Formats: sequence, structure tokens, C-alpha cells
Amino acid sequence: ASASAPAPLQRSQLVTTLTKTPKKKLPNNELVFGRTFSDHMLIIEWDAEQGWHAPEIKPYGKLHLDPSAVVFHYALECFEGMKAYKDKNGTIRMFRPDLNMARLNKSCARLTLPTFAAGELLELIKEFLRVDSNWIPTERGYSLYLRPTVIATQESLGVGASNRALMYVIASPVGPYYKTGFNAVSLFATRDYVRAWPGGTGDAKVGGNYAPGIRPQIEVAREGYQQNLWLFGDEGYVTEVGTMNFFMFWTNEEGELELLTPPLDGTILPGVTRSSILALARQWGEFKVSEKSVTMDRISRAVKEGRVHEIFGTGTAAIVAPIKKIRIDEKDLIIPLDKSDPTSQAGPLTARIKNTIEAIQYGEMEHEWSVVV
Ligand code: PMP
Repeated sequence: ASASAPAPLQRSQLVTTLTKTPKKKLPNNELVFGRTFSDHMLIIEWDAEQGWHAPEIKPYGKLHLDPSAVVFHYALECFEGMKAYKDKNGTIRMFRPDLNMARLNKSCARLTLPTFAAGELLELIKEFLRVDSNWIPTERGYSLYLRPTVIATQESLGVGASNRALMYVIASPVGPYYKTGFNAVSLFATRDYVRAWPGGTGDAKVGGNYAPGIRPQIEVAREGYQQNLWLFGDEGYVTEVGTMNFFMFWTNEEGELELLTPPLDGTILPGVTRSSILALARQWGEFKVSEKSVTMDRISRAVKEGRVHEIFGTGTAAIVAPIKKIRIDEKDLIIPLDKSDPTSQAGPLTARIKNTIEAIQYGEMEHEWSVVV
């Protein structure tokens, strides 16, 4: 008899084992990003012959892996970052989780890791959230950060596709990125290191993209800058801000008011926040919204001519991070925050975007992007 086809990922096969020793929770004000984890994890094995095994929710704990596992040598690993929120009625909500599922599938495909039925994984994550519901903080600004991860586990030093993999989802209660409102950041435009390049993996969320960025980040931190502004090419095209997408609100050379972010040309991670901001701004219809490349030279000139109104980074962690300064070629370029209020730490558009997205995330504004669990 011939072997049956590899099984798809199936939520109906879920087996749940609850912890007998629930952990003590930290008070909200002591939460540090990604340091403490909930009581359980969702974990699913895959192998090339059988396909996806029965999903398990079980007590959070260590993995047992062979030192030769492919992930430890060739970085065959990808992941996601997303959040679950509790609204004022205690209802669990997620924000556009379908986009995270799709992006994880794309990252898996890029690395020859197994792809999966996105709807099944999302339902499994929802079940995981119901099990660890009491780990989702209730206060506005707080949430449960979810880290879906896929790693190659074949015991082999051969450089090749892995015939075994492990998918798991862990959860960490997190606080607001900025404890006291906004806190504008300074960037160092990095010419010595490149984050991503055409034909590379900058548009996938693979672990291999992040390890090389840590040293550049530490180097600029020593000089007093919070993040690298990643450039590409001799022309100095702006790509991303640390681990956030780049946005500029300005009056362009044609005199048009424009919200600009670099296009998804393969070097940019397609951020869920990025996509949401573009959609909101297009719907508002108050100014031009463009996915276009921009060089540091054009930004410098626009700043000098008073045409830059706001620059900010965007991502799941902070939603928006206002930018007040960019170091470029030994000079500091001062970026305005709020031209009408010198004490403000964020521009009016930056603040409006944060308030709108947060209102959707916490179910204060009815919106199809907020998915009730
Ligand atoms: N760029 C990079 C390199 C990132 O790691 C992230 C965080 N996932 C983002 C942008 C922002 O993406 P998102 O809005 O989906 O969090």
C-alpha cells in the first residue's frame, strides 16, 4: 500500500493539557517586553512524510532538540509578532491576524519550511488565547504579545531543506511601548551596514535578518541614538527604521502634501501597521498617500526648506514611534515633531494614527480589522 498524503494542519485534532502549577503574574507596571511568558504554549510538529501532527496546547516549557538540528546552524527559522487585547468588556480581540498568518506562510515558503492552512492556525491561536485568557492584561495600552515561530529540526549538518519542523506559539504580557505618552527617538543613518538588498530576504520575517542588525544597533546606541535608519545604495535610499517601517509626512517637491513610505520592493518588511496606516490615510483622503522611494538627500533638503512635517516609524510594538533627529554624515538633522506645540513629543498626524489604531485594537471603534476571539 502506498503511503497516505501528508496531513494538513487541523485544529480538530487539538489536544490540550493544562498546567498544574500556574505561574505568578507580575503587576502591569513591572512588565518588561518579552521577558515573562504565559502558562501554556501551542506546539505542532511536522515531518515530510506525515505532514502536520496533532496540535498541542501544553504547559510552557523547554524544547528538547538535537545539537545538530538545522535551525542551530543555518538559521532555518521564521516568526511573527502580533498581539491580543482585552476590551473594556473583557472580550479578547486580535488585530488583522490574517495578515500575520499570511506573512508567516510567505516566510516559511521562502525558507522551504512547511506552509500551513492559515485559517486553522488562527483558530488554534484563538483557542490558545482562551486557555491563557487571564494572561491578557486588561488595562488600555497593555496586551499579550504572541510569537508564532517555525524552526527546522532535522538532525543533520547538511545544508538543505529540513524533513522535520516545529511550529510553536508563545505569549508574553507586555505594556505600552511608551509608559508616559510619546517619547520621540533619534536615528543614526547607517552607511556601513545594510539590512536588506534586492533578491535578499528583507521582505520575509526570518531570524537571519535580525542577528546581523544587533551590532549596528549597539554601536549607534553608544553614540546616543536609539535606532539605525537603514539605507540602501550609494544614493542613500531610506528603507526601514530599526525594526519598524518608515513614514514621512511632508510637502513634496511638487508642493503637494504627501504621506510617503518606501514601496514593497523586496527590501522592506510588509508591516501590518504599515498596511493599516496606508489604508486609513487613503480613506481619510486629506492628502496624497504614496509608496515611493526617497533618498536621504531629498529628506535633508526638505528639512532645510521646512517641508518635512513629521517622520515616524511604525510597527506592532509601538504602533508609531515619532522621530525627532537623524544623524547623517556627521550632522544631526532636526525633524519637527509638532510645529504648533514645541513641548509635544509627537506630531498631530502621528498622534492621530496611534489613537485611531489603538481605538480599533481595543474595540472602542467598531472595525473589521478587530477580530473578536
Ligand atoms: N520592519 C521590520 C524589519 C520588522 O521587524 C517589523 C516588526 N514585525 C516591522 C517592520 C513592522 O511590522 P508590523 O507592523 O507587522 O509589526
